[in-house]
Amino acid sequence: MTDRGGKIRLFVAAGLEPGAGVALTPEQAHYLFGVMRQGVGGRIAVFNGRDGEWAAGIAEAGRRGGRLVVRERMRPQQAAPDLWLIFAPLKKARTDFVVEKATELGVARLRPVFTRHTNAERLRGERLRALAIEAAEQCGATAVPEVAEPERLGAVLDGWDERRRILFCDESGAAPPAREALQGAGAGAWAVLVGPEGGFAPEEAARLRGMAAVLPVSLGPRILRADTAVVAALTLWQALLGDWR
Ligand code: SAM
Repeated sequence: MTDRGGKIRLFVAAGLEPGAGVALTPEQAHYLFGVMRQGVGGRIAVFNGRDGEWAAGIAEAGRRGGRLVVRERMRPQQAAPDLWLIFAPLKKARTDFVVEKATELGVARLRPVFTRHTNAERLRGERLRALAIEAAEQCGATAVPEVAEPERLGAVLDGWDERRRILFCDESGAAPPAREALQGAGAGAWAVLVGPEGGFAPEEAARLRGMAAVLPVSLGPRILRADTAVVAALTLWQALLGDWR
């Protein structure tokens, strides 16, 4: 639920078409009527990740709910580039940062993975999904990245479809600079892979380097924190191969 430069944008689950009614959750009602002081007759924007962005009018306003009526479509649905982020969960606040920034920078799917040196508390998928929705509301995206259930890195690599390339953020210092490596690479389906604060175990890095789909890259001479590495790698990919061009 976000006020984006004066425009309130809400993610809703319902299908969107002219005249459709949308029931508000108690949280959405609290935000719209309690926090944003909206009332019957007010106008907001809604999106559901499938049908683009629509204008909607407030038809009913209550303390624990309300109803919107969908009016006209303002923007078509726009898919994020076919880019996944594979990341090792970090401490709670840093994981939240990764989900928020990856959504803003533009990824289609978030895949948390447990690696040998992952040192994270339990991961709550529902919370991460809620964070991705909030970030999409705030940044004006019509798509919300899917948040996959966490898996072991080994299992993810066992089932890997080699047509999707992996930008492996390799802190060893042996990989070529990311910008140089990406300039010679084609667009298409990609995943950015960033390790945990403890880095990749030698056998994990060796396995990755042996895969045809993997492009190991350096993000410069300094060791970045994992959340910084996520932002740096997604920025480079978006600028060179993604939808920032
Ligand atoms: N413990 C590791 C070490 O000291 O070498 C550092 C791991 S780093 C904090 C977390 C992750 O960010 C790494 O696994 C890697 O994916 C990425 N990363 C950080 N700095 C990087 C760099 N300069 N080049 C490429 N990847 C980097």
